[in-house]
Amino acid sequence: LVVLKSVNKHFGALHVLQDIDLTIARGEVVVVIGPSGSGKSTLCRTINRLETIDSGDITIDGEPLPEEGKALARLRADVGMVFQSFNLFAHKTVLENVMLGQIKVRKADKKQAEEKARTLLDRVGVGTQADKYPAQLSGGQQQRVAIARALAMDPKVMLFDEPTSALDPEMINEVLEVMQQLARDGMTMIVVTHEMGFARSAANRVVFMADGRIVEQAAPDPFFSSPRSERAKDFLSKIL
Ligand code: ATP
Ligand code: MG
Repeated sequence: LVVLKSVNKHFGALHVLQDIDLTIARGEVVVVIGPSGSGKSTLCRTINRLETIDSGDITIDGEPLPEEGKALARLRADVGMVFQSFNLFAHKTVLENVMLGQIKVRKADKKQAEEKARTLLDRVGVGTQADKYPAQLSGGQQQRVAIARALAMDPKVMLFDEPTSALDPEMINEVLEVMQQLARDGMTMIVVTHEMGFARSAANRVVFMADGRIVEQAAPDPFFSSPRSERAKDFLSKIL
């Protein structure tokens, strides 16, 4: 579904993505881990073209990423993204946050958009918060709204960049549970996270990055029990 071939990206002299080859199948859940600065966020951001690349190819469903205009807006809807900071529209209600993209990008009518928004908000467990503003919600609730907002666009793939890193500990699980359910429902997901419990239980594959390269990738069990590279061993010894 998502294919990256020899992708390279620089920030000035810094080579942040070095010959990245990565193929993600439909329904696959890939967890990306690695030290700070290894390029995990940049990798995610290239897939919905929040960052351009210097060389290589990225395709989704066999189509190269569009460069601009309406096609780019559709790409951003096809590739749902959830960040560490929840990025909800502060001056819109929770319900409006989940309706907006459906109306603007997917051209849904208001009634359909509202119905779908309410269904999704129920699904992520914040249905009763629909008429509040984001600031009136807890971090965990806001993050679940952000997930509902992305899902409202019927994405082909969902990218999560450290979705629980900014949350108080007691709110982490409620967000991870929503993500677990999404994974079980067959959503294609790329998840950057330090939650190794999630990686073990939800991931089909763990991709380990260091210095802009994919150093190692494997199913969670073999990866966590017997990492092959020194870099991965060293990383795991620090976080587990
Ligand atoms: P973290 O775990 O801290 O989130 P990461 O693996 O997500 O790290 P990236 O955010 O992808 O890492 O950053 C990779 C490298 O690129 C870092 O050295 C970072 O400082 C640099 N970088 C990221 N964004 C930019 C930018 N817009 N301009 C210049 N350098 C950048
Ligand atoms: Mg990052």
